[in-house]
Amino acid sequence: MLKAALNLIVKQFTVSKDNPELVKAQFTHFATQVPIMYSVLLINTWALAINYYGSAPNWLTVYAPFVFAVICLVRMVTWLKQRKITPKFEQAHKTLVRTNKLAGFFTLLLTAWSLLLYPYGDVYMQAHVAFFMAITGVGVIICMQQLRSAAFIIALSVNIPFAIFFGTSGIASFIIIAGNMALVTIALVTVTVVQSRAFADTINSQVKLELANKENEKLANLDSLTGLTNRRQFFTKLQDEFRIAEREEKRLAVGIIDLNGFKLVNDHYGHAFGDSLLMEVGTRLEKFSSQNVSISRLGGDEFALVISNDNSDEQLKDMGDQIREALMVPFVAADVTVQISGSIGFAVYPYLAKTSLELYERADYALYQSKNIHNGEVVVFTERHILEIEANTKTEYVLSKADLDKEIIVYYQPIIDINSSRTVAFEALARWESPILGRVSPADFIPIAEKIGLINKLTQVLLKKSLAMAVTWPNEINLSFNLSTHDINSPQAVREIMNIIQSHSFDATRIDLEITETAAMRDFEQAKSSVRTLKSLGCGIVLDDFGTGFSSLSHLHALPLTKIKIDRSFVSNIDTVPASFKIVKSLLSLSRDMGLACVVEGVETKEELSVIKSLEGCLVQGYFFSAPISEVEIDHFLQETALPKRA
Ligand code: C2E
Ligand code: CA
Ligand code: CA
Repeated sequence: MLKAALNLIVKQFTVSKDNPELVKAQFTHFATQVPIMYSVLLINTWALAINYYGSAPNWLTVYAPFVFAVICLVRMVTWLKQRKITPKFEQAHKTLVRTNKLAGFFTLLLTAWSLLLYPYGDVYMQAHVAFFMAITGVGVIICMQQLRSAAFIIALSVNIPFAIFFGTSGIASFIIIAGNMALVTIALVTVTVVQSRAFADTINSQVKLELANKENEKLANLDSLTGLTNRRQFFTKLQDEFRIAEREEKRLAVGIIDLNGFKLVNDHYGHAFGDSLLMEVGTRLEKFSSQNVSISRLGGDEFALVISNDNSDEQLKDMGDQIREALMVPFVAADVTVQISGSIGFAVYPYLAKTSLELYERADYALYQSKNIHNGEVVVFTERHILEIEANTKTEYVLSKADLDKEIIVYYQPIIDINSSRTVAFEALARWESPILGRVSPADFIPIAEKIGLINKLTQVLLKKSLAMAVTWPNEINLSFNLSTHDINSPQAVREIMNIIQSHSFDATRIDLEITETAAMRDFEQAKSSVRTLKSLGCGIVLDDFGTGFSSLSHLHALPLTKIKIDRSFVSNIDTVPASFKIVKSLLSLSRDMGLACVVEGVETKEELSVIKSLEGCLVQGYFFSAPISEVEIDHFLQETALPKRA
């Protein structure tokens, strides 16, 4: 009990360690207040010293105040310097403890000094001593208000000597002043207690607010599923790092990762499974984060890296490869195991991007290249890509201004029946002879026409030209015609195509319309209805590039197909690559099972042809027989080379 009380008393006189933020705030507050306190002390001391000069010895009126002034000035300068720093807790606490001690020591020292002067003065001068002690005590307590312990120490160091000295002086005025002083000090100390509590409360609520703010900010910048930073924070981080890289002339890289086949997994196993897969991807990617590498989820199955150490392109590629390997580790959940992979693109500042947005966009372009052209391999954006983009923009512009009727022509590639060695059809293939760009490959301009919304018009021009040509062919030769994704996904475009077919005298049952898996899968219901409409005219429907998409057989079954075309990527070197052989074999038997005819495209050599023959493929197309030819060459081809060229 006694010990507890004693502890409580000691606590009032020491600087508390319980609340680090409060100590730091007190420190900051004192940095401005303490110099003011020292100036109060200096003014008070010198006023009293001047009053006693000549009456008291010099060591009391000159030397002692002088030494004290020097100490005060040193302390003032020290504190003024500290005004600029943001203190650490330990340091702030140490300084406050010292202030606590010095406050007591100085007040005692000054009290003793003034009492030593007292005997040398007349009654007015003695009253000045009392005034000095009172005003010094009050002044210092006010300056120390935020540090309760110091205020307490000062109150006691002034009042006890004051009370003893003047209380026992026998002079009524002084006794009254001593009592007055004691009462005022009690009042002041009470104010100090209230004030210091209010100060502590303000600081505490400030701390709480700051914490809440930090927490809010953290939540606003995090992706709730993976716990990685989100898209917003990615761009903030990118901008910050970009500024640093610019200033320090350092390299800065951005990487974008996109999962391959995630949509299929999500559709097949459900969203909960998809979510846990994304969480796992987050965990795997997190392992690559460090002080210089930050990882974010941009949304969906897209993730991004900001890499701020001076990595070379080679190092970036290595890192990309490691990330790809980490993603390929099979993912096991409950009773399912799936394997996914990722595509990755990088771009680097300052080499090939001048702004942070450009850096991001170029990494995104590299990702696009990685995904669509390089089978997921890591791609670092290079000068070649800039040329590519420039060429595409130029092509876009020239195509948008082109006179399609004049510049777009049609070439025809024969489709041969293996058994009879006769041409059974020609596939119409678009060619663009641009007066500005020269000859442009359809692999380049068809995607651009799709992008700029010109494809439906282009299809119409091509279809009209092909039909006008095909009516001149012998009756047993059909026309194969390619439709784009955009054609079968728009009812309006399908109507236009129907109108063109119906307004030509070419028999619709001699037309095969080729569509790709990707086109059919984009909007399956719409594709199905378009295909039905076109088939109702009597046209055949061919699934082009079969085997390259992700569609499931059940889906394909729902389309009223008449033929499939095995993609040429499976055919090249079929005689030497066992995997290709197996794929073509199973695709052929699949088409037979489904009751569909099958064209094997891209046959280039005698060896490939004989393998296909052995697998009982019946329709073939490829350079071995003929490259696409112009319309004027058709007659000649049919007369001379209905049989294979080099058979
Ligand atoms: P596709 O529909 O798969 O057309 C076959 C492509 O393979 C043609 O390229 C053809 O020239 C080429 N090819 C034929 N035999 C061989 C061979 O033995 N070896 C090799 N390596 N290639 C062979 P082309 O004419 O450059 O057309 C490329 C693609 O552009 C076409 O692929 C098609 O997707 C698109 N395309 C062409 N014409 C049109 C069109 O009129 N409309 C639409 N929507 N797309 C078209
Ligand atoms: Ca085709
Ligand atoms: Ca094809």
